[in-house]
Amino acid sequence: MKEFALVLFSGGQDSTTCLAWALDRYDTVETIGFDYRQRHRVELDCRGPVRDALAAMNPRWTERLGADHVIDLGVLGQISDTALTSETAITMTSAGLPSTFVPGRNLLFLAFAGAVAYRRGIKRIVGGMCETDFSGYPDCRDDTVKAMQLALNLGMAQRFVIETPLMWIDKAATWRMAQDLGGEALVSLIVEATHTCYLADRSKRHEWGYGCGTCPACSLRAVGYRRFRGETVRA
Ligand code: ZN
Repeated sequence: MKEFALVLFSGGQDSTTCLAWALDRYDTVETIGFDYRQRHRVELDCRGPVRDALAAMNPRWTERLGADHVIDLGVLGQISDTALTSETAITMTSAGLPSTFVPGRNLLFLAFAGAVAYRRGIKRIVGGMCETDFSGYPDCRDDTVKAMQLALNLGMAQRFVIETPLMWIDKAATWRMAQDLGGEALVSLIVEATHTCYLADRSKRHEWGYGCGTCPACSLRAVGYRRFRGETVRA
């Protein structure tokens, strides 16, 4: 039986690795992205070129890559007051969470992914949530994702499986996974074409890609890359 997957694909390092992971495994792989008026909306512009480059990398992947769905979640930007959806400083909040945390974001993403998967007859939903390097985001936890899987299956009378291949690995291992899946070509594509920086800075090119180099997202990506290349780096 053919296996269909829908990948939450933002245009960043993690979701690009997840997309390659899914293309390696499943017969047809569709992608879904969300415009929630994120400060780093430039990541949305990375999606098309990254999809095209992945398809060009491997004939099997060309065949498997299916439709892309972009969902307008501007309403999330409207109701959120966070450093990811407005021009405010990235700090720690009194709740002990980074001000980049957008409450409800992954819950909404998974709910919309479930609705699209339902319509498209897709069983597997793949996301790059990660509990190891998760910046303390509670909606990246394995328990949250498992609870959403249960809620979607109950609420839509389906048997969705939410897969999170990065859940228990760190950023260095994510780079390694990309290398295992697509060799240096995939590592280079991720460096050149994906976007991670919260501040949407693409003016500086580092060995690990474009970004301001200092925001939490850049720091994680940089430390992970240097560890992946064999350097001893303190976080
Ligand atoms: Zn940055």
